[in-house]
Amino acid sequence: MNFHQNAQSPQQALHLELTSVTRRLAARAPGNDGLVGQDSPSPQDSLKLELADVDRRIGNLKAILAEKLEKRSRILMVLETEGPRTEARLKFIDFDARRDPKTPFWCIMCQKDLKPDQAHKLVRLILTDHGAWPHAMHPDDVASFDAGELTIPENAHDHGAVRIGMDCAKKLGLAWTLAP
Ligand SMILES: [Zn+2]
Repeated sequence: MNFHQNAQSPQQALHLELTSVTRRLAARAPGNDGLVGQDSPSPQDSLKLELADVDRRIGNLKAILAEKLEKRSRILMVLETEGPRTEARLKFIDFDARRDPKTPFWCIMCQKDLKPDQAHKLVRLILTDHGAWPHAMHPDDVASFDAGELTIPENAHDHGAVRIGMDCAKKLGLAWTLAP
């Protein structure tokens, strides 16, 4: 815009400036390929770009929030419609089957012998899949199970209370053990 610069009136200069700004804004409008108006963005343009970015991030957060709210309402619906539990809670005992206990006093988990007076806990042992897998019944479910109010899976059987060493009891979770 150097030509005729000396001849410009203030009105002409303003008009040229306005034209330039309008052209730059048009160049940045959505759908424009951005090949024109490659001069560095004005503060206004930068703010508009920033605003668009913030709006986009808000849009993303709204989508995530909508998804979470939808999930929440699904969970609430299940909680409201689901009847009382029918099966006792069981926890798999990650046992070591390589041991071969020599005495009647052994730990159900590591399967090492315990001294008869050694500190230990008990678990209510439920063997599932025709005796294949040892599980501990949650102590809070034992009374209901014994009263016939809770069941165990098909092909599982109740083996009664068995010993578990203290270290293994902690690994299993003391909440799953009974006092000896
Ligand atoms: Zn053990």
